[in-house]
Amino acid sequence: MAEPRGIKPRDGIKFIEGVSLKNISLKATLAKKIIAQNSGDIIFTANGISGPATITLSQRIAPQVNSKLTLTIDLLPEIDKEKMDKHLISLFSETPNKTLQSILNNILPQSFVKYFAEKNKINLELKCNAITSPERRNLGNALKNIEYGIKNLEGFDKAMITVGGVNLKEVDPKTMKSKIIKSLYFAGEILDLSGPTGGYNLQICWSTGYVAGISAATQ
Ligand SMILES: Cc1cc2nc3c(=O)[nH]c(=O)nc-3n(C[C@H](O)[C@H](O)[C@H](O)COP(=O)(O)OP(=O)(O)OC[C@H]3O[C@@H](n4cnc5c(N)ncnc54)[C@H](O)[C@@H]3O)c2cc1C
Repeated sequence: MAEPRGIKPRDGIKFIEGVSLKNISLKATLAKKIIAQNSGDIIFTANGISGPATITLSQRIAPQVNSKLTLTIDLLPEIDKEKMDKHLISLFSETPNKTLQSILNNILPQSFVKYFAEKNKINLELKCNAITSPERRNLGNALKNIEYGIKNLEGFDKAMITVGGVNLKEVDPKTMKSKIIKSLYFAGEILDLSGPTGGYNLQICWSTGYVAGISAATQ
């Protein structure tokens, strides 16, 4: 298993390459059941979706990636699904003559707004005071649920961590000594171990390396 650096969706997203979304929430579902979720930042790449939140999520879904997985992005996780409609009503009433384009430019990166509107059949020219209830609910739903079918992960060649293959049950964690082969010690990525992205994998290497080194020298 590996922790790949990105997720390849089934839909083409090439024309938003380089757009990043901050503080979003991501979830991967299989037949509507959540199998992994995470929050943080993502970036659209030439091949798909990457960034810290994606990398950690991709690690968790790697064993099931050949199944029919769906990736859902929640652009406004701080607003509950139930409160979204009220939030939009209040937002629109404050600026009745503004267009949706102008409202969305304040919520999302401008380079993402056109793509978002096209994907969700949202008319950006609509003025806030002319938006119907179904249109408002469609917008609220789109902000909470951008869906992509997952085609694949970026693959072993681009993985950040390989989860090397040495079974943890075969290693004494107090010394990092093999339980099978005498005087053999393990440290780092060779172990079947990985953490979320953000330095945890390097910490695993340093900590296991320290313990293995001290133990080997004093055995
Ligand atoms: C692009 C990228 C970004 C990453 N970013 C992060 C991050 O932000 N945070 C984080 O925590 N982790 C990150 N990682 C993961 C982290 O860098 C690795 O898990 C860690 O460096 C592994 O350390 P290691 O000492 O176990 O293995 P390695 O660093 O792979 O060291 C193994 C060494 O053994 C040598 N070697 C191999 N075979 C032999 C042989 N037969 N004889 C002698 N020497 C040999 C290799 O040349 C190598 O120098 C990233 C990884 C990648 C690829």
